Amino acid sequence: MSVIIDDTCITCDACLQNCPVNAIVDDSHNPTGKSRYYVHPEKCVECVEHFDDPQCAAICPTIGCISWDKPFTKEFEGHFLNEEIYKLDTKNGVVKSPAFKEKKYRKDIPLELRGVGKEVQVAP
Ligand code: SF4
Ligand code: SF4
Repeated sequence: MSVIIDDTCITCDACLQNCPVNAIVDDSHNPTGKSRYYVHPEKCVECVEHFDDPQCAAICPTIGCISWDKPFTKEFEGHFLNEEIYKLDTKNGVVKSPAFKEKKYRKDIPLELRGVGKEVQVAP
C-alpha cells in the first residue's frame, strides 16, 4: 500500500464497491474502531495491474479524504505496525505485516508525495 482514508470520510460507500481487491471495509468493520471507512494496507495494491489510478480515490466525493501512504514494504514495517493508524490482519497467529508479505505499489509515486495530506486526487 497503500492509500489511507482520513476522518473527513462521510461513509458514503462509493469506494467500497470500486476496489478490485476488496481492501476496503466500512465503518462498522474498521478494525481501529474509528467511524470511517478503512483500507487494509495488507490487501491494497494501489490498483496496480488493475487500473491506471486508485479507483477508490477516483470515485470518492470528498476531495482530500484519501491520501497516499508509504509503500507496504519491509522498509516501512514499523509504520504499518503502529496500531494507532492500522490494525493488520493475522494468519495463523502471524501478523500480516510487510515482513510477512510485501504488496505492489505505484513506483511512479515518490516518497515525498506519500504521507498524511498527500492527496491521491492531486496529480504528482
Ligand atoms: S488504491 Fe485500489 S486497491 Fe487500494 S484500496 Fe483503493 S481501490 Fe483498493
Ligand atoms: S468514497 Fe470517500 S467518503 Fe465515501 S466511504 Fe469511501 S472514503 Fe469515505
